[in-house]
Amino acid sequence: MGRLRDGVFVVTGVSSGLGRALAREALAAGHRVVGTVRTEDALVEFERSAPGRAFGRRLDLTDTAAVPALVAGIQRHLGQVDVLVNAGYGHEGTVEESPLSELRHQMEVNFFGTVALTQAVLPLMRARRRGHILTVTSMGGIITLPGIAYYHASKFALEGLFESLGKELRTFGIHVTCVEPGGFRTDWAGRSLVRSERHVADYDEVMGPIRKARLERHGNQLGDPAKAARAMLAVLDAEHPPAHLVLGSDALSLVREKLSALEREMTTWESLSASTDLDKGER
Ligand code: NAP
Repeated sequence: MGRLRDGVFVVTGVSSGLGRALAREALAAGHRVVGTVRTEDALVEFERSAPGRAFGRRLDLTDTAAVPALVAGIQRHLGQVDVLVNAGYGHEGTVEESPLSELRHQMEVNFFGTVALTQAVLPLMRARRRGHILTVTSMGGIITLPGIAYYHASKFALEGLFESLGKELRTFGIHVTCVEPGGFRTDWAGRSLVRSERHVADYDEVMGPIRKARLERHGNQLGDPAKAARAMLAVLDAEHPPAHLVLGSDALSLVREKLSALEREMTTWESLSASTDLDKGER
């Protein structure tokens, strides 16, 4: 890597998927990685992957109270954090059928856990006037599909917060990139996905095919996690890193479709939208 040498990465969720792939690539590029996991077995496996450079830490992202001590420990041990990469999970279910407790958990992990870790590493990054926060949101942080509204809510929330944060940190030399993957071959749509109980027959027609299609797609997604990891490393290396990085051809076309539809709708309603300003004489 060019811009970043001998960096310290903090990566949440290195037990599988994109987090694991990124940790592997970062370790292969010579960096040190603090990876969070939820089991002792995963911790041992991670540390064995690169003894002396892969450091496992137990963290459930719902436990935001544990985050400051975890980051203080990293600072004592390694003295710096150059890159923070955040993980999460998916929830599937209609808004009417899915209990609020499932929304709260989705937000606790994907949003509040991520923000807590970010707040904790910011003083270290700010003191050194360097750092890069990669937040893995999703194409679902820009586009929406029916049946995963809670997931979208958590990812749209991340997009808003981190896009704004990037502007706050610009003068400190700290970069923020929202990474928006399409479908990648990870455990996201398998063991990690929380499927809400179905109990309103009216939604059978909309949810039946969605659930079936997602089950069929699992394991057949286009995206290669190792390539996503290399793309994220390329962004860390860039002179002018992007605020958003869409990953995958599926994500590219769906996001483009959304942006064009939004533009078309704004044009259709433009005169009504522009009609609400005070009249010139009233300003
Ligand atoms: P994954 O293979 O299921 O990995 C999810 C990781 O998050 C696992 O390491 C898991 O740990 C960890 N995790 C889940 N809940 C946690 C919690 N409460 N506290 C701490 N760690 C927790 O899925 P992935 O695809 O790599 O997902 C990574 C991120 O990419 C997610 O934010 C996901 O929404 C996003 N994403 C994925 C795709 C895709 O198609 N794969 C597309 C767009 C966005 P355990 O092993 O302990 O469960």
